[in-house]
Amino acid sequence: MTARARLAGLTAAVLLLAACNGGAAVSHDAEERPLHIVATIGQIADAVRRVGGDGVQVHALMGPGVDPHLYRASESDITRLESADVVFWNGLHLEAGMTGVLERMQDLGVRSLRVTDGIDRAQLLAPPEFEGAYDPHVWFDLDLWTVVVASIRDALVEMDPDRAATYRANAEAYIAEIEALDVYVKTQADTLDAGIRALVTAHDAFNYFAQRYGFEVRGLQGISTESEASTADVQDLARFISDRGIRAVFIESSVPDQGVQAVIEAAGARGHTVVVGGEIYSDAMGAEGTPEGAYLGMIRHNIDTIVSGLTGE
Ligand SMILES: [Zn+2]
Repeated sequence: MTARARLAGLTAAVLLLAACNGGAAVSHDAEERPLHIVATIGQIADAVRRVGGDGVQVHALMGPGVDPHLYRASESDITRLESADVVFWNGLHLEAGMTGVLERMQDLGVRSLRVTDGIDRAQLLAPPEFEGAYDPHVWFDLDLWTVVVASIRDALVEMDPDRAATYRANAEAYIAEIEALDVYVKTQADTLDAGIRALVTAHDAFNYFAQRYGFEVRGLQGISTESEASTADVQDLARFISDRGIRAVFIESSVPDQGVQAVIEAAGARGHTVVVGGEIYSDAMGAEGTPEGAYLGMIRHNIDTIVSGLTGE
């Protein structure tokens, strides 16, 4: 056997070992190329980029304005998923139209992680109308989101131990920024009188936000935008707004605003004027390259918009 043939045989054995070794490091040369990662929503992609730094190349399937509840994978998405080193997704029925595709990736041997798996189930909200599923919008409780960031860190460390120190340091810095922003959101929320702390939006994305920062929330559509709002839903919400004397309601960048406009009209018919307090980011982030195109920026934008919308200042 020539040296070249022996080397080829050895390489094949190493690759075979790597392929069989589902739980351990990925066979990639740390000097050669970053891990190829596919994430579903922008918030997850952003966390992976922040923790992964130069060690990762991340593609987010869903960009600005895209609704994950309704999103379906394209052919090119499937090609990307199949060739990824790892796929990160929410997993709590957020990607409702993609669950089958994402589960099939696991069957094909593509490594994937539901980033919410590390959250204690007792900390998840399980609204009765969501039929036994947990509310997926965990990024609006910044404390819960640090658990997700830690899970992403652990996955990267396991797959790419050569860069473990970098991933740990990046995660620590990012979590510190999230914790500081958590304090900011609390402080801003606390400037609002209890009587006006009501957040009315297009769909029920803000239950974790409500729980952590002390708001009453109402979404026209349910936890998922898969369910359409009825005329009765519009009237119920208009009654809530006029009874409570709410000044402003909010549109979401990833949900068409007709529903919210109908609620505003219905409140007007009841003799109560309510305005659009602004656009906030629920399930999608803002445009790339803007502050709102990153998780920390979208959260800051939301609380600032909510406070100024509700107070009119
Ligand atoms: Zn949603």
